[in-house]
Amino acid sequence: MAIIEIKDVAKSFGSFKALHSVDLTISDQEFMVLLGASGCGKTTLLRIIAGLETPSTGEVWIGGRRVDHLPPRERGIAMVFQNYAVFPHLTVFENIAFGLRMKKLPQADVQRRVNRCAELMHIEQLLQRYSGQLSGGQRQRVAVARALAMEPDVILMDEPLSNLDALLRLEMRAELKGVLAESKTTTIYVTHDQVEAMSLADRISVMNGGMIVQAAKPVEVYRNPAARFVGSFIGNPPMNFLPARPAGEGQWQVAGQTLPGPRVKAAEFAVRPEDVQPASSGFALEVRVVEPLGPHTLVTGSLEGHSFRAVLDSNLVPRPGDTLHLAPVPDRIRWFDPETQTALI
Ligand code: ATP
Repeated sequence: MAIIEIKDVAKSFGSFKALHSVDLTISDQEFMVLLGASGCGKTTLLRIIAGLETPSTGEVWIGGRRVDHLPPRERGIAMVFQNYAVFPHLTVFENIAFGLRMKKLPQADVQRRVNRCAELMHIEQLLQRYSGQLSGGQRQRVAVARALAMEPDVILMDEPLSNLDALLRLEMRAELKGVLAESKTTTIYVTHDQVEAMSLADRISVMNGGMIVQAAKPVEVYRNPAARFVGSFIGNPPMNFLPARPAGEGQWQVAGQTLPGPRVKAAEFAVRPEDVQPASSGFALEVRVVEPLGPHTLVTGSLEGHSFRAVLDSNLVPRPGDTLHLAPVPDRIRWFDPETQTALI
């Protein structure tokens, strides 16, 4: 069992606060992705869990044991980082066996574990090759196999696919997901790639400015962002936001339309570009740019002076200068508090 508990962890580098009071519990065998823009503190949090960085305050618990005072090797974790740290002068076999030899495991066990992990990562035919003679994707597999061979309770990964080309990334993403589910480890995976996060995670922790803004299932993060930041960060293109003026109890005036909404003093309207549909009335979008993208058409335009994007059926190809009437799908409309920037409903 490897539940990971991060309790009130903060980290300062001099006067700069990289992490502000992070609380997060990761369940046994869960695949947790830390997602956020560059500099938001993802790697710092991962390094604190790994024991490569000391928290300024707070505690880290792994499997019911407080570990923040323990060195990395005593935490029951394995790590795969962006620069794979695969030793070029060793064979693939010896690279995968490296940690097992350090632990002085009997040769038969080393052989068995290396073979099994090499099979899992589809590199069994490369075992005698030197790592210096491998492609980036193959080296990546060796790094993952080496981590799995340790049979750790926890695997920590920091952007492990970022050096691969797009196609290989896609392939490795699917493989990793399968292999890690099978290995029954608890995984924490750092990325700034939202598609990778959505596809891999059981839950995503969206980070911003050294804080976790929302930790939830991918579909929840996508459909019900807890904060404006989440809606503006996740989704390609991201959510549209429009100012709303009160128009009576629970009614709001948004870009010329009256819409039902929350019974509060101030609210901001939000809807995803794919959650609007052509209609006979509705928002009157002045079309500026039309991008036929194959599966759909992306339209960028202006709504009463505010930029707005719509993802439409690929059969629909308006022209710049057209006025397009669009109605938001009622149950996909979201509202945010303009002051706290948090979700209202
Ligand atoms: P990236 O995706 O670019 O790696 P990140 O979200 O992983 O970003 P971190 O590496 O955790 O970000 O860094 C968070 C903040 O802390 C950044 O502003 C970074 O400059 C700062 N920081 C990290 N390590 C140190 C350090 N050793 N000394 C000073 N500042 C640091």
